[in-house]
Amino acid sequence: MSSLQAIRGMNDVLPDQSPVWQYLERQVRSVLDQYGYREIRMPVVEPTALFKRGVGEHTDIVEKEMYTFEDRGGDSLTLRPEGTAGCVRAALQHGLLHNQVQRLWYQGAMFRYERPQKGRYRQFHQIGAETFGIASADIDAELILLSARLLRNLGLADHVTLHLNTLGSNEARGRYRKALVDYLEAVKDKLDSDSQNRLYSNPLRILDSKSESTQALLNEAPAFDDFLDEASREHFSTLCSLLDRAGVAYEVNPRLVRGLDYYSRTVFEWMTDSLGAQGTVCGGGRYDDLVPLLGGKPTPAAGWALGVERLILMLETLEKVPASVHDTVDAYLILAGEAAQPFGFVVAEELRSKLPGLRLITHCGGGSFKSQMKKADKSGARFALIIGEEEAAAKQVTVKDLRTETQQVTLNTEDLMAELGAKLA
Ligand code: ATP
Ligand code: MG
Repeated sequence: MSSLQAIRGMNDVLPDQSPVWQYLERQVRSVLDQYGYREIRMPVVEPTALFKRGVGEHTDIVEKEMYTFEDRGGDSLTLRPEGTAGCVRAALQHGLLHNQVQRLWYQGAMFRYERPQKGRYRQFHQIGAETFGIASADIDAELILLSARLLRNLGLADHVTLHLNTLGSNEARGRYRKALVDYLEAVKDKLDSDSQNRLYSNPLRILDSKSESTQALLNEAPAFDDFLDEASREHFSTLCSLLDRAGVAYEVNPRLVRGLDYYSRTVFEWMTDSLGAQGTVCGGGRYDDLVPLLGGKPTPAAGWALGVERLILMLETLEKVPASVHDTVDAYLILAGEAAQPFGFVVAEELRSKLPGLRLITHCGGGSFKSQMKKADKSGARFALIIGEEEAAAKQVTVKDLRTETQQVTLNTEDLMAELGAKLA
């Protein structure tokens, strides 16, 4: 039996862990609500062509990371490696982009065939925000402020740095690409092998190469700033001043290019050094070209996606998960003796009706009073509610505080409601 295992790089989230996931999801959701973003849910599987076109043929994702398969009808399908392409596909398909502004968010599993390691998995989870219909830098700023607020609320603000760059217009990028390739061709033999492969397919990616020798060669390379178009320069300076005024610090990083093909103008990443090599917890930018690329009318767009596992690793490494997150049970009802069970079930249902916030486990499966007390303690509940033969006969319940040294009390059900209601308030 034990030979049945989850697929490498795909993790179970066990019940001890899921409260942390729920905590993070609650925090993210509440900040997105504050800014008026609405949730969209897309399928996990899409036509392969969507990602080839939307993410780009010459990206790591499409070249080597996709889970692609043929279904029984012979169509090529792919498990989504990211959410933006599917979000645009859905928005187009349902007419959400027609002369409208949209602020959307999504969450869910993404799939990439990568080498599993800390913070890098084959099934992982993203929460993403996407906006459509706004070309100006104010929305870029909003997206960044939203992510900054989230990181602050999670207690992570001191452990992340915002890296910011502009990739300019297509024309500016095209001219720069050419100059960069001209320069790098002359030193081609000294580049790392990944960068050699990218020289003609995706040369801008060489800028964020992890190889130190390549980075050293880049010090002498043409600078993008000399190629940047005036409109993009203005867009970037508006963004920077909005961030300055909001008190969000950033580092302009001219080598930040991001992995996907579809970005233009703004790109940004929140990075941390508390996770080792997997340092980016959230990344995004502007992608005005994607909607037309996928068949829609020209529509400005910008967004970001954060890696849920990486944020959770950060929360745990830095001990930022509030202890209360793990309190999932308030009371454990112990039923000892014949008459206890029928009476206990009535009391438990009544409690759940009158105190909907109460998290109550009713003991099932019998056993001695002592063994039930042990289970109550292990459940993490604050209170044991005890119904033995005597309580059942008198229609009463004994309340014992498991976490503090207070005298236990025996109450009728009405007083029990009041007592628990008051204690949990
Ligand atoms: P990296 O450079 O670390 O591979 P990326 O540029 O491929 O990241 P994006 O496509 O921008 O990542 O995805 C957004 C976020 O999703 C990342 O910043 C990261 O937090 C998370 N992420 C990406 N790939 C993985 C993965 N394989 N496992 C876990 N989290 C991931
Ligand atoms: Mg990657």
